[in-house]
Amino acid sequence: MGDVTLFEPAGDSPLAEKKQASRYQSHSLAECITHLSTPKGKKPVLKTMVTTACEKNCFYCPFRAGRGKTRRLTFKPDELARLFDEMQRAKLVDGIFLSSGIINSGVTTQDKIIDTIEIIRKKYHYSGYIHLKIMPGAEVDQLYRAMQLADRISINLEGPTPERLTALAPKKNLYSDLLNRLEWAGRLRSEAHQKLASVVTQFVVGAVGDTDLELLSLTEKLHHQMGLARAYYSAFSPVTQTPFENLNPTAPLREFRLYQSSFLLRDYEWEVEDLPFESSGNLRTDVDPKRAWADLNLRESPIDIMLADRSQLLRLPGIGPLGADTILKARRSTQLRDLGQLRRLGIRTPEQLAPYVLLNGQRPAQQLPLF
Ligand code: SF4
Repeated sequence: MGDVTLFEPAGDSPLAEKKQASRYQSHSLAECITHLSTPKGKKPVLKTMVTTACEKNCFYCPFRAGRGKTRRLTFKPDELARLFDEMQRAKLVDGIFLSSGIINSGVTTQDKIIDTIEIIRKKYHYSGYIHLKIMPGAEVDQLYRAMQLADRISINLEGPTPERLTALAPKKNLYSDLLNRLEWAGRLRSEAHQKLASVVTQFVVGAVGDTDLELLSLTEKLHHQMGLARAYYSAFSPVTQTPFENLNPTAPLREFRLYQSSFLLRDYEWEVEDLPFESSGNLRTDVDPKRAWADLNLRESPIDIMLADRSQLLRLPGIGPLGADTILKARRSTQLRDLGQLRRLGIRTPEQLAPYVLLNGQRPAQQLPLF
């Protein structure tokens, strides 16, 4: 079941995860174990599926119905739970990411995922990291139970609009199968009197004409309205014996720019309208979105470091939430006059700020003073 590691990012560093997965060439146990940065630290996590059989026919997927090349394996919940327990006791893994193909409906498959995890939690008393996939069409009580049992759940939208999803996965409905599950999950979390799993989603990027504007607009809405913890963007990569086998792969750099942009929306007080989209609805891939915005907006109107508020500081290339807070604190007692002072405050490459800021009322010299 090693293929699952290639197609489902699950941790906090999906790009590193992808590199790690692509190193594995042979089908071996190692393929199923990924070292993930999880909310509980870096862990060797078993990524696996209840079954690699599927009744759906998503055009990009190696597990789609009718694909001859896919090995179809199915575990019973107690088998899979026991296997995990043995691996966990042997210290091969500390965490599980459990997904599945769909057989006999999303509801039936979701039951198998939950049954497996009930055994792992109750019979084997495992209290470590669990990430579960929510099946399209799962019921609200299944969602609630999964959120009680797991640390994180995924409800993968795959496409950012109904039309894009139909082009990717003709048997899935964006609203009735998926988006309303995300709404339920957000509501359950906000009303819960106990800790429930965080919620993430994933998009397949670039196979069917989806734009960065579509992907990031929906991501912003999910963060604000449904409490989404993060979105994963998977650059499309063609799989043999699927209807998309002859499409071009999506450039990894596009995926990287989407991640950068989604962090601006989630952590840097940006709104989707602030992002410098081109007329195609996509972002430039040759420059990071923050620098592209700064080039358009700050070269003529630089930000005064001593006067800027937090959200203005967060517009500057090289300044994150920690750097902005450090500057705000430091300037209460110190006049910040040059780039060297910013470096001593922990801003790693202050020289990149030079075209966009005023220090001591002036544009700083581009060369850092030596001391
Ligand atoms: S439902 Fe999931 S496993 Fe089945 S074809 Fe679609 S993406 Fe693949």
